[in-house]
Amino acid sequence: MTRPQRPRAQRRFNLPILWMMIPGGLIALAVFTMSHAIDAAAWEASRWLLSIPARVSSPIPAPESSPTEPPAPSPTSTPSPVPTGMPIPEPSPTVPPTPTPYPFFQEPLPPADGQARALRVPILMYHYISDPPSGADRFRLDLSVRPSMFEAHLQYLRQAGYETVSLSDLIFYLTQGQPLPPQPIVLTFDDGYRDAYEEAFPKLQRYGFRGTFFVLTGRADEGDPRYLSWEQIRQMSEAGMDIQLHGREHIPLSGRDEAFLFYHIIGGKQSIEAHTGRPVRFFAYPSSDYDAGLLRFLEGYRFWGAVTTAYGADERLENRFVWPRIRIRGTDDVGKLAWKLSLLKTEPDP
Ligand SMILES: [Zn+2]
Repeated sequence: MTRPQRPRAQRRFNLPILWMMIPGGLIALAVFTMSHAIDAAAWEASRWLLSIPARVSSPIPAPESSPTEPPAPSPTSTPSPVPTGMPIPEPSPTVPPTPTPYPFFQEPLPPADGQARALRVPILMYHYISDPPSGADRFRLDLSVRPSMFEAHLQYLRQAGYETVSLSDLIFYLTQGQPLPPQPIVLTFDDGYRDAYEEAFPKLQRYGFRGTFFVLTGRADEGDPRYLSWEQIRQMSEAGMDIQLHGREHIPLSGRDEAFLFYHIIGGKQSIEAHTGRPVRFFAYPSSDYDAGLLRFLEGYRFWGAVTTAYGADERLENRFVWPRIRIRGTDDVGKLAWKLSLLKTEPDP
């Protein structure tokens, strides 16, 4: 049986189409190779990360050196599907760009010198620094410190001789005795509301203070106008503010499995580190909800500590994943702030 001869006109017509398919095929190949390389990079990074033990049995992980960057991913190449017998164009001198590994920090706790130390540094907890909207419910009122009142707080703290430090500074003191100022204080701001950039940030700068901001990365990813944007977070970080993690979303995290925690906590940590280039070492539990599994998770992934909303000032290495704080309420004027700080000096935690 013989194949019927194609008409001459059709043969002439097919040749240009085949020629047009070559550049098209090469573009498709380039796109496929690049996306494959990006997938490979992401996979290598997560595989590297997953290889780090998530469970540490001792309360304090033994210091050991760890890589600060994932191994450089190698883009894979795929065989070319160019049909034989066709003229092959000269290979292009440009190669697909190698994906830049994003910064990812896995820092062990600084090695402890073996000396037992304890601190009673006030860690203040603010939320909104803005006038509450009209019709605000009692929760919103309670969480909102007016900008003028916040400024009065800062003025008082400076006059009283307080100097702001970071949570990392507390860890460096507890592990290695690195000196702290005579009257250290940590100013924390939860939830990463937009007013952290508009009100808290410029006022802190004016008083030469450093704030610690526990942000929600999901809100920044979505560009929610009520919360900090990545650009604002980056600017604050570059100006010396400490950006730490409150979670991807504001959801309770006790009783969750490892994959869930990995997505919400390690995902959030990596996002902040990629945007700021600085390590995320501390976590603030959303709604102060935590359990033993969550503490083990944070410790296993080399967080240095975490803060709750429980009242007190008791910082030691042993309790560093449940450090208490002093809640600042919307009704707290300078007198109340001074009173709360004085209680820490005279009374033990409940
Ligand atoms: Zn919160």
